[in-house]
Amino acid sequence: MAGERQADCLFCKIVAGEVPATVVRETETTLAFRDINPQAPTHVLVIPKVHYPDAATLAVAEPQIAADILRESAEVAAEDKTAGSGYRIIFNTGSGAGQTVFHAHAHVLGGRGFNWPPG
Ligand code: 5GP
Repeated sequence: MAGERQADCLFCKIVAGEVPATVVRETETTLAFRDINPQAPTHVLVIPKVHYPDAATLAVAEPQIAADILRESAEVAAEDKTAGSGYRIIFNTGSGAGQTVFHAHAHVLGGRGFNWPPG
């Protein structure tokens, strides 16, 4: 059923506490933890506790939780003090865009300069 835990999903295992992660924030609907391979001084993943394969699918099925992800992403940036100089919230969607874990997640990146257009 939509939103249910997937047995082979890494991020569902992190939500369940079966795979360790450095958690920085948690709400009833979301979990935020540090990326294992950080690309910036602040690199935190903000995920819904329920399973949807990408952010767009989540937004259609659970728009309130999609909004929770954005709010929590801003909180992460504020707590890491990266918000002052600006930060990025990135949703890689589809393998062609670099998505490798198919459980919706926002990357929150900050603490360094960024180029535009992105790579
Ligand atoms: P994607 O490529 O799907 O947009 O992002 C997946 C992210 O998950 C990558 O940045 C990758 O470094 C991160 N990641 C992969 N495995 C783990 C893990 O076991 N723990 C944590 N904390 N991050 C992971």
